[in-house]
Amino acid sequence: MNKIPAIGTPVRTQAIINQYGLWASKRLGQNFLIDLNVLQKIVEQAKVTDRDIVVEIGPGIGALTEQLALHAKEVFAYEIDKKLIPVLHDTLSGFSNIEIIFQDILKADFAELKGHQPVKVVANLPYYITTPILFALLKSRLDFTSFTVMMQKEVARRIQAGPGSKDYGELSLAVQYYLDVDGIFDVDRRSFLPQPGVDSSVISLVKKRNFKPFVFQEQLFKVIKAGFAHRRKSLINNLLFLVKKSPEKRQQLENILTAIDLPLNIRGEKLDLNKYEQLTSSLIEKGFIS
Ligand code: SAM
Repeated sequence: MNKIPAIGTPVRTQAIINQYGLWASKRLGQNFLIDLNVLQKIVEQAKVTDRDIVVEIGPGIGALTEQLALHAKEVFAYEIDKKLIPVLHDTLSGFSNIEIIFQDILKADFAELKGHQPVKVVANLPYYITTPILFALLKSRLDFTSFTVMMQKEVARRIQAGPGSKDYGELSLAVQYYLDVDGIFDVDRRSFLPQPGVDSSVISLVKKRNFKPFVFQEQLFKVIKAGFAHRRKSLINNLLFLVKKSPEKRQQLENILTAIDLPLNIRGEKLDLNKYEQLTSSLIEKGFIS
């Protein structure tokens, strides 16, 4: 008897597309993986074992879901596109450890995960909402240990970037505040059907060991946002947008920067997370912001 090829192979994916008269929705970021090596590398990089509960975002026609289910204890996959209901029902019918939830991941409350956490998040993300998904999951009640996700290469570079680099920005700091980068590899456009118009990378992010929220977390993110608001302006000029501008406020800021050893003409892109935390504490302590 002929063995059915894996879903994530060109021949099987094309057969599924033909069978169901599917078209890949650009609007929903549907680029299906048709490279078994890449799929297996993702599972490997996520270090999925038979003790793991995995949350997948956007199973599509099931290529990654299948590979995850071969290694994980259970896979919970959230898919927004209801036209894929009969497809996934069929392609993944051989597995008893997969639950597909037809929901927008940005609106999911993860009720079905009660008693099944912590989880590992693994996904070939829809690129049009990569950052909203990351932020929604970071802010959600989902108890996760790692994210291993395919995204636009350029976004992965921004996440990894450090002070002084052109890719460094609000996204780098927001992610690095919670997570450490644990691995990254690039993926060729030919590994997808249809091929995306941008380059891709898979990045693994693990929850920081001994993560302790910064006391003034909300203000910290406001200060970081302000720090990068106008990249060509100095940090002082950007921070002045947080208050009603006046010569006194400028003087106060100059004193604050000097007290924490920052040059007066420094730009926001030169500060690392620790320095932003120090700056935020000083701004609050001196009553510049509350
Ligand atoms: N996992 C499949 C693969 O690797 O071949 C498909 C990945 S495709 C890049 C992204 C998937 O995310 C699509 O199936 C798309 O329908 C789904 N998707 C898009 N927006 C979504 C959302 N808001 N919530 C859940 N799934 C979404």
